[in-house]
Amino acid sequence: TWSHDAAIKVEAGVDVELMLAEGAALLERAAAREELPRASVVLEGDTIVKLGRATDIDAWIAADPAQRQPHQRVDARGCVVLPGLVNCHHHLYQTLTRAIGTGQGRTLFDWLKMLYPVWAEMDPEAIHVSTQIGLAELLLSGATTVADHLYLFPNGTRLDDEIAAAQTMGVRFHPTRGSMSVGESLGGLPPDRVVEREAAILADSQRVIETFHDPAPRSMLRIGLAPCSPFSVSGNLMRESARLARTYQRVGLHTHLAETLDEERFCLEKFGMRPLDYAESVEWLGGDVWFAHMVHPSDADMGKLAHHCSGVCHCASSNMILASGIAPVRQMLDRGVRVGLGVDGSASNDGNQMLGEARQTMLLQRVGWPGFESRADRLSAREALELATLGGAKVLQRDDIGSLEPGKAADLVAFRIDDLGHAGALGDPVAALLTCAPTQVWLSVINGRIVVENGALKGVDLPTLIQRHNTASMSMLKKSGLI
Ligand code: ZN
Repeated sequence: TWSHDAAIKVEAGVDVELMLAEGAALLERAAAREELPRASVVLEGDTIVKLGRATDIDAWIAADPAQRQPHQRVDARGCVVLPGLVNCHHHLYQTLTRAIGTGQGRTLFDWLKMLYPVWAEMDPEAIHVSTQIGLAELLLSGATTVADHLYLFPNGTRLDDEIAAAQTMGVRFHPTRGSMSVGESLGGLPPDRVVEREAAILADSQRVIETFHDPAPRSMLRIGLAPCSPFSVSGNLMRESARLARTYQRVGLHTHLAETLDEERFCLEKFGMRPLDYAESVEWLGGDVWFAHMVHPSDADMGKLAHHCSGVCHCASSNMILASGIAPVRQMLDRGVRVGLGVDGSASNDGNQMLGEARQTMLLQRVGWPGFESRADRLSAREALELATLGGAKVLQRDDIGSLEPGKAADLVAFRIDDLGHAGALGDPVAALLTCAPTQVWLSVINGRIVVENGALKGVDLPTLIQRHNTASMSMLKKSGLI
């Protein structure tokens, strides 16, 4: 039975701060992939301290009520409780330019060339407000950890602008200092006015690592370095960025790779190598590297990715909108490649719905494409949910998030399954999260803090934020002459 009681009970607490969530089902205690019906989770500070069947947890509390009586209880009956979802690839600033070029349909290079001049009009306010908008939507969709890739810095903007904005939202954040250094005049794709000098990129990369990066367990902020793509940076910048990142602990390396066949042709013409071979030639293989997309890996590429423990962030919606292709996620998983999920920049998805992205991943893998027959069992709902949680955690090299286990970070989300969209789906409520239309979270806890309560972001004035965001967006579109 799945009873419904949305009331939140705050109880008189003792000195330790504990929170208890009573859930209908729990997904994924990592190794066992166990699901617990009628379970409870106990959080203390930023950590999960205990989870199990509700009756066992009640008995555990009753055995030492002075120490274990929770400060606050959240009655999450009628919900499925999951580890917080992990979004491994994004460009939050692109919420400013949603629905441009994607409606009529453009492929990656044409779409980028249309948008570079608009993005060149960004200022610090635009970065700040788009970061908050993108994160608001992501948090409500179940994401608790978000990696972002900001790779152009016009008009005095800095990575600091998005970090400051993200810190107001309570998210576990992995911003990457992106870069573009090869403009049109040097054979690159972006216009010269949006690229930076390589010495300045490296100096600023070092500055943001030293200012913000926290390698400690349960870190809320880790920096990565992220030269944008083979067609917008030089091999030298790739190599120097990798060397710089590796002088620090747990600074990740991120870039777009093997996204389109246009990119593959570009790499063959310019470097005489396929994309992953090029990445290898500039020292970009290793456990600290994760590539966005990897739509077109060869068999040898998949072997290399697995051998070097490099991660892949699959972005199903973006790959469909820009007609980039279907990434062989099943094959990569079978070869032992680490795979996580990302919604990609909001302008090549036009949405920041993490649960929806897991659904798209599941659906797209089932579709046939040249060389692969259609197969309904190519990816199950549970496998897609695992990619969105534990898979993403591994891609970001984190062993402290991605599953609900004692000792891990207190990041969890609860989705109601007693609502309209799940009516009749209680036979398999976990699968229903992806087979039914994606919904928003009812509860989100990040690092032990309630960020979403009763389906609403705490302390965020969304109407005002949306208005500010639309003002910034329209101003950029007008300045660039696009409207
Ligand atoms: Zn991207």
